[in-house]
Amino acid sequence: MIRLHEYQAKRVFLSYGISVPTGYVAFSPDDAWKIALEIGPPVVLKAQIHAGGRGLAGGVKIARTADEAKEIASQILGKRMVTAQTGPEGIVVKRLLVEEAVNIDKEIYFSIVVDRRRCKPAIVASPAGGMEIEEIAKLHPEQIITEPIEPIAGIMPYQIRRLCDFLGFNNNREEATHIFTTLYRIFVEKDCRLVETNPLVLCKDGSLIAIDAKMSIDEDALFRQKDMARLWDITQSDPSELEAQKHKLSFVRLNGNIGCMVNGAGLSMATMDLIKLHGGEPANFLDVGGRATPETIAKGFEIILNDPSVRAILINIFGGIVRCDRVAEGIIKAVRQVKVNVPVVIRLAGTNREEAMDILKKAPFKFSVMDDLNEAAKEVVKLAKGV
Ligand code: GDP
Ligand code: MN
Repeated sequence: MIRLHEYQAKRVFLSYGISVPTGYVAFSPDDAWKIALEIGPPVVLKAQIHAGGRGLAGGVKIARTADEAKEIASQILGKRMVTAQTGPEGIVVKRLLVEEAVNIDKEIYFSIVVDRRRCKPAIVASPAGGMEIEEIAKLHPEQIITEPIEPIAGIMPYQIRRLCDFLGFNNNREEATHIFTTLYRIFVEKDCRLVETNPLVLCKDGSLIAIDAKMSIDEDALFRQKDMARLWDITQSDPSELEAQKHKLSFVRLNGNIGCMVNGAGLSMATMDLIKLHGGEPANFLDVGGRATPETIAKGFEIILNDPSVRAILINIFGGIVRCDRVAEGIIKAVRQVKVNVPVVIRLAGTNREEAMDILKKAPFKFSVMDDLNEAAKEVVKLAKGV
């Protein structure tokens, strides 16, 4: 899944005829100053990071003059911003959206998501939008409406009426209808996993304007969403995940301390389940795939070792298409290239297992080689705990 920045999503909204505040992206305090002058203050400065919750974290500020905009920009740009959605390490702010400030009367939450349980898109909306929406969802679920959409039919008129009633739209139903149907069109036409505007603002003059915008695109659709793919700001992604992608490894960082290298998504998940069963926490999901070569194995090993929270590694390979001896070669190649300072448990089964064992025995590093997966999982959990 790839995410767009707010200013990019707003450009898409605008190109479909949805009102957004006039604004431009700034990469430096001087940019911010110029934009503020051009739009005319007061302006809002908004940190462009791939995470929400910026308002509560000081990432959304109002400036009353161009000089103040410059001052605020110099405070935010280049800083690490920690919000409820970034994780404790935060994300460095490299871009700011500078836009006209809007007079807010009412903040509405509106989103379209893929509802996995129902296997169809769903609109989720609330009249109590804004920064406290997560709290509202917990404490006042009756303030949130969910409308599943039948993909073949699209949004039905009765659903729009229900949404308008629920959200309290009366004399601006026509405009609201335009916004709901258009956001759904964007959701479908751009292959989105999420389209969200929080808040969608009802202004003092009765008009509706999207003052925040979020879009995530299904990465499996990028082959036909070239314009969206070009908007992807890779500096916002985990460097290890990018490195893995380059080598066609499927890697997802997790919160634990046991590095896993497995072939096949199913075996990877079974391995992670066993680790958890024995009281451990995986540091990552890494599927080296069926076509793993010694090079990709070495790369995967390197990516895992780059994570400072990894205390032990479990390599679990079933040699089918990829032969065990090739895997062993890859592991040896990796330990020659990078310094391995954590214990490594290896479980190999399948084609050319014996040859692999011979190779590992001659290795310049002592691995714990195990035959049984359950035992291997138990062992790696023990080693990660330093027992
Ligand atoms: P988020 O916290 O990352 O979702 O950032 P938002 O863009 O939603 O901004 C957070 C909050 O800042 C909003 O809920 C508004 O209350 C406020 N805000 C943002 N832009 C404006 C604006 O133009 N005028 C006013 N008055 N408030 C704004
Ligand atoms: Mn928001």
